[in-house]
Amino acid sequence: MQIILILLSLYSPRLSPMVLTRPLTPAIQPLYQEFELEPIDVLHYDLSITIDRENETIDASAQVTFVPTEENLTDFRLYLKDLTVSQVTGVSSFSQSEDSLFITLPSPASTSDTIELVIDYAGAPPSEQWGGFHFHPYVTYHMGVGFVSDPSMGKYMFPCHDRPSDKASFDFHITVPDTLYAVANGDSSGVTDNSDGTLTYHWTLEQEMSTYLAAISVADYAVLHDSTDSRISYYVYSWDVEDALGSFANVDLMMAHFEDVYSPYPWDCKFSYVQTPIGDMEHLSQVYHIASAVNGNTNYDWLLAHELSHHWWGNCVTERYWTEVWLSESFATYSEAIWMESYGQSEYIDYITNNIMKPYLNSGELFPIVGAETPSELWSSTTYQKGASVLHMLRQIVGDTAFFAGYAAYFDNHSYSTALTTDFIYYIESQYGDELDWFFDQWVYGEGYPIYDIQTDWVQQGSDWQLTIGIDQTQTVSTFFTMPVEFLVQGAGSDSVITFLNDSFDQEETFILPFEPVSIVFDPGTKILTSSFLGVDEQTNPPLGGVGTMYLGPNPATSNSTINWLGTENMVLEIKIYDLSGRIVQKQILGSSERHLNLSGIPAGTYLVDAVAPGNVRQTARLVLLPSI
Ligand SMILES: [Zn+2]
Repeated sequence: MQIILILLSLYSPRLSPMVLTRPLTPAIQPLYQEFELEPIDVLHYDLSITIDRENETIDASAQVTFVPTEENLTDFRLYLKDLTVSQVTGVSSFSQSEDSLFITLPSPASTSDTIELVIDYAGAPPSEQWGGFHFHPYVTYHMGVGFVSDPSMGKYMFPCHDRPSDKASFDFHITVPDTLYAVANGDSSGVTDNSDGTLTYHWTLEQEMSTYLAAISVADYAVLHDSTDSRISYYVYSWDVEDALGSFANVDLMMAHFEDVYSPYPWDCKFSYVQTPIGDMEHLSQVYHIASAVNGNTNYDWLLAHELSHHWWGNCVTERYWTEVWLSESFATYSEAIWMESYGQSEYIDYITNNIMKPYLNSGELFPIVGAETPSELWSSTTYQKGASVLHMLRQIVGDTAFFAGYAAYFDNHSYSTALTTDFIYYIESQYGDELDWFFDQWVYGEGYPIYDIQTDWVQQGSDWQLTIGIDQTQTVSTFFTMPVEFLVQGAGSDSVITFLNDSFDQEETFILPFEPVSIVFDPGTKILTSSFLGVDEQTNPPLGGVGTMYLGPNPATSNSTINWLGTENMVLEIKIYDLSGRIVQKQILGSSERHLNLSGIPAGTYLVDAVAPGNVRQTARLVLLPSI
């Protein structure tokens, strides 16, 4: 998933340099918060869902086929939130409490039994701000993930063993008014005309997926097929077809690129994008793509690439626990850069620098990638951008051959299943041929990033020059970052690159050069995530193209907020503020020197601020407006 609704605020507390206490504290140990698993393995869900858009309710039935994972199973639970169960066949009793459906079997079952329950349920399916089941003026759709303490939101639509590690195959039978089209995971198994003004769309997914990837979406969709790759299709609002043709122009190339770099598309079914009102979410074979990004141009390719890549990272190799969600999101964010690399090395480095490293460094976040516990930490800049930076750095350390061979071995051994961070480390180390604990301890289990203090000095010695480089680390976090460091030494007619391992505080190294240095550039290849020399607080000019990150601050706001969008200074911005049902609540044109968003008169709530710069360069950010006191 990609939270295009930016959760960050403008202010980014800068670290005040200070000397670390020595010796170093050991790397922080991961806190595996294991969500409890029920003693069952679900094999298949067969869901029949009738949608009543007028009353915003569903009437549904779920056939759940499972095997016990322990002997003498009588009691277990499925998850189902805010929907009322009227009947369960094949059980002796059932009861509901909060988000649980407790079931008692008529007799103890063994691990060799295959059990089938039919659960009839109905009601108004719940929604959160982002995830859950939504009735929108144009679309009825279900988002499988939300930013709450249990992020799996399969239970917002159907009774299920709502854990990433219990994967199952699916059938969906979705009954809707015959003016609408219903899309779900997998491939179409046909449409039935019920002769009562409704149609039932049947979708089948034969391979297994986690419940958080299951979803349905219903709208007046036009179905477009990719002209190059017959596996790819697009479900777009019928009035947006022309824009869709422009916005999805490069998807076939992305698919080819990822198949080349990773492996053949690992799913037997279609791949598609489905236009929905908010956010992007990697539901298997039907990525939800935010409506405002279907705009006729390709400036959201990074987002399309991110979600497509989840079909390897997250959907096929799935994080076993939500606390390891970086195995999904960092890999997908890094895939954005892998896609940019298809245009060339400088495009790759530009993207790593401006769209991955800088947003993280500006976020002010200083917690570990694995070890985060709250939803806001799990879906954070640390998970998305720092994690992607870590993969970039790992690739520099181990080299392309070991990096991609490690990726491939990790994928081969965990595809259609789940994985832990330690699995990824194992396969990378195996290909690299050496331990990498030092790297993962500091970058994944440790917090923050290094801030370097560097001094250089040179003196002539006969016909040569002696260069002294002093390097220290001044970050406030307790982690010391051992890294190879590179310096580009430029002379009048010659250049030289110096590399050494920075493995201690106040380190000093000397080198003899056959020429007089004129300037020295630290980390010329952008191989380290550090705010030193990246100009994070400076008004640099990142390339436009809709990929720069817009920040709003303060956010949450009370009566006003300010837009900070690097690269658009001195540009006129067209602003539209949408509420979460997609209605425009305010339009504003900001003059070239104006970045002040006037929010007076808008009721408290959550909004999307859509900003368009000249050239149709566009960003959307979430803004929370608090009640004025
Ligand atoms: Zn994602």
